[in-house]
Amino acid sequence: MVKSYLEPAREIKVRTEVDVLVVGGGPAGIMAAEAAARGGARVMLVESRGYLGGNLTIGLPILGFLGGKGNQIIKGLPQRFVERLQARGAATAHRPCKLHISLTIIDPEVAKIVAQEIMEECGVELLYYTFVADVIKEGNVVKGVVVESKAGREAIFAKTVIDCSGDGDVAYRAGVECRKGDEEGGMQPPTLMFSMRGVDVQRLRDAITGEPDKFDMDIMPHEHFREGKFITVGLRNQILQAQADGLDITVARTILITGLAEDEIWVNMSRVNGVDSTLPESYTYGEMEARKQIYRIESYLKGYVPGFESAYMSVVAPFMGIRESRVIVGKYILTAEDILSCRRFEDAVAVASYPVDIHHAKGGDCTLQYCGDCYDIPYRSLLPADVEGLLIAGRCASFTHEAMASTRVMSTCMALGEAAGRAAALALKAGVQPSELDVEVLRKRLIEESAYLNTL
Ligand SMILES: Cc1cc2nc3c(=O)[nH]c(=O)nc-3n(C[C@H](O)[C@H](O)[C@H](O)COP(=O)(O)OP(=O)(O)OC[C@H]3O[C@@H](n4cnc5c(N)ncnc54)[C@H](O)[C@@H]3O)c2cc1C
Repeated sequence: MVKSYLEPAREIKVRTEVDVLVVGGGPAGIMAAEAAARGGARVMLVESRGYLGGNLTIGLPILGFLGGKGNQIIKGLPQRFVERLQARGAATAHRPCKLHISLTIIDPEVAKIVAQEIMEECGVELLYYTFVADVIKEGNVVKGVVVESKAGREAIFAKTVIDCSGDGDVAYRAGVECRKGDEEGGMQPPTLMFSMRGVDVQRLRDAITGEPDKFDMDIMPHEHFREGKFITVGLRNQILQAQADGLDITVARTILITGLAEDEIWVNMSRVNGVDSTLPESYTYGEMEARKQIYRIESYLKGYVPGFESAYMSVVAPFMGIRESRVIVGKYILTAEDILSCRRFEDAVAVASYPVDIHHAKGGDCTLQYCGDCYDIPYRSLLPADVEGLLIAGRCASFTHEAMASTRVMSTCMALGEAAGRAAALALKAGVQPSELDVEVLRKRLIEESAYLNTL
């Protein structure tokens, strides 16, 4: 087999030219596109799937709207998004949680339509089923992207591109230095989420609160489970028993998330170690392996966890969720030390609080480290070190492996998306590159738009 193929150069159609092009319509991308459009820019959002939401659509609660001291630390557009869900009965209030700081349960389907409505309302042009495959660069300045779709290969020119692809696809192709994982390149494992219906949630509550020694929970006092929506992280004894009985369960803890319906539980328990979502063969292996695991997990729940006796698998998430892949090396790399010391930055554009929560790459247990209050994320973490015309928001911004284990939660990704979108719009108005934008102007605008900045 020949090892490489020299693709002939060819002329491709220019689909459009916009002010701001957002790549990826997950939590970060939706907020980035909305913020840029509300700031007066002509915005296009390109998404490889046929709907918006990214990981908002796989059955996860939004973690981290509240800080370690119980105050709300993420407001602005992310809060307005949740309020729109709440108005339809599709989101709960932000519930404090000792383990996860705070949880906000949402309906993944309603999240898709609300995100789409917001895009339509603020005039963002959407392009689904389109994959960003390359960048257009002049010197060190990104001028647009090359996309692939059923229509073939096309160019989209933009004054600023915001990479919200989760995997840093645009940054990587633009030659921005990117990193993956810990010192050995080990990344947090992915999970294929699924939901069970027909669960007797009251029976589960009764078991946890009635026999806390048997149905043990990590950190959480068992009273927490008496009422309200919850996430269990525990039931280790039950997994050990199932394993002793020969059931192949690869995790130590039972992670269950109450859905909005009374009999609904989302299950966060499959894990495939060693998957790299930027390599299709590895992602394929992960997806295949996770799909096998979820049926074994279903058997475990029905056989060993109170309340699941008559439950059935209802929805399998549309794709396996990726916890970690590429991050960029930006003008500032946020570290775990910054997080755990509640560090403040003069150029802060978002505030976060979620613990450094690492599902270790080689398996075994998780480790969580808390800052006790909240910390700042600087604007420089959204800027590549030496490429212009590009901002990066969401889980692929500039963090160490440990820091990303905190900043990856969706409320934080949303806040970073808003900051990037507002920065792009302001930079265009000022006629400067995002890296040259006066960060005080950006911070002032964020505060005017009711984003929370823990002002110095
Ligand atoms: C199993 C699991 C459990 C988690 N638990 C929680 C939790 O309970 N609560 C919480 O708040 N967070 C949780 N997280 C973390 C959180 O979901 C993610 O870190 C967060 O969604 C990242 O947001 P994002 O916008 O950066 O990326 P994503 O949500 O991944 O969105 C990226 C979007 O970009 C699109 N895209 C990617 N590449 C391209 C391309 N080349 N061209 C066009 N489009 C592209 C994708 O289709 C996707 O829609 C969890 C993550 C996982 C995987």
